[in-house]
Amino acid sequence: MARTETPRRIRGTQDIFGDEQRRFAHVLSTFERVRALYCFQRIDIPVFESTAVFARSLGETTDVVSKEMYTFEDRGGDSLTLRPEFTAGIARAYLTEGWQQFAPLKITTSGPVFRYERPQKGRFRQFHQIDAEVIGAAEPAADVELLVLADQLLRELGIADGVTLQLNTLGDAETREAWRAALVAHFEAHRGELSEDSLTRLEKNPMRILDSKDPKDRPIADSAPDIDAYLTPEARAFFDAVTAGLDAAGVAWERNARLVRGLDYYRHTAFEFVTDRLGSQGTVLAGGRYDGLIGSLGGPETAGVGWAAGVERLAMLLEEPAAAGIDAVVVPMGAAAEARATGIVADLRRAGVAVEMAYKGKMKARMAKADALGARFAIILGDDELAKGVGAVKALATGTQTEVAFVDLAEALR
Ligand code: ATP
Ligand code: MG
Repeated sequence: MARTETPRRIRGTQDIFGDEQRRFAHVLSTFERVRALYCFQRIDIPVFESTAVFARSLGETTDVVSKEMYTFEDRGGDSLTLRPEFTAGIARAYLTEGWQQFAPLKITTSGPVFRYERPQKGRFRQFHQIDAEVIGAAEPAADVELLVLADQLLRELGIADGVTLQLNTLGDAETREAWRAALVAHFEAHRGELSEDSLTRLEKNPMRILDSKDPKDRPIADSAPDIDAYLTPEARAFFDAVTAGLDAAGVAWERNARLVRGLDYYRHTAFEFVTDRLGSQGTVLAGGRYDGLIGSLGGPETAGVGWAAGVERLAMLLEEPAAAGIDAVVVPMGAAAEARATGIVADLRRAGVAVEMAYKGKMKARMAKADALGARFAIILGDDELAKGVGAVKALATGTQTEVAFVDLAEALR
């Protein structure tokens, strides 16, 4: 008889459990708490969209669209794509749901995103992002608020040390055009020294040569002209307002004139929070202003700014998060106690106490379970306790034991 092969996990996907899961959940719950402090509301959008939503807004020449999307035809013959990021779908929702009426709209979301990339440490094919956006605000104050939010998130996660905010400006449309022309002229003059990939970029997306990781490209990228000489007075004033805002809020930043974003719709502010603690996957949070995006989707010209961070990369940077920890473990000994314990456990849980029941093995094994779960108390129930209508409540840190009447248990454990 042929043996059925055990199914495999798809390359670049993850099954997230145990310590890893606790880190992951800690990132998400911290984000949820901090976003509320900044009065951002949570939204949810679909995991897949029409392929055109991403192709049009991210730009056909970007790595994401040209090489990384999970695109498929559904049974109705429509071309759909699993979201490789959130911003395009949010912009689509903004238009289709009429969210213009709420502008400026401060929103966050989180969930899985999908990119066909070569899996390695900190790089997956299904990974998770947290995302924050302000749509319909053209003021630099919106950029500042998002950056201060990101900074507070990293601080509250305890990972701000060793993570640096790198900031650049891509100017307004006029600036970008002029700078782009200067870059093309510079790269054309050094054609022969560029990597194969960068020769393609030169045709399609010359700015991307600036952040090329290929050592061959670095000298040419490093000697390319900065944007500064091309900034219009408006673009310069915008950037100055952002940096002044960061200084006022006490957020440290450094200028990185080589920082560009791969996506075509970025304007003005571009930023990354980077660390050297994750090898070459050092960007933990990245974003910028995308005033051209909603227009490129066929909507009215609408300002927008936002960022996304990889949950896995943030989770990898966390110090060991405290084990989940529960309030109590009920340890019944004997059939009568076990029967009674079912009701006691249900009552405690309804009263908001986190309890587990240890119903396997000898007394010693059951107490070991209480320790392993990080419980604060063990509630021991034997025939004596049943007769008296009490539980023997043992504080596991100190070993002190007291008798508590069943009706008073929830109160005593809180
Ligand atoms: P990279 O240069 O690492 O490929 P990116 O520019 O493609 O990053 P963004 O599109 O800006 O990344 O996505 C925002 C964040 O999502 C990144 O800063 C990173 O933390 C995370 N991220 C991106 N791609 C992956 C991936 N394949 N696996 C895990 N996290 C990722
Ligand atoms: Mg990438």
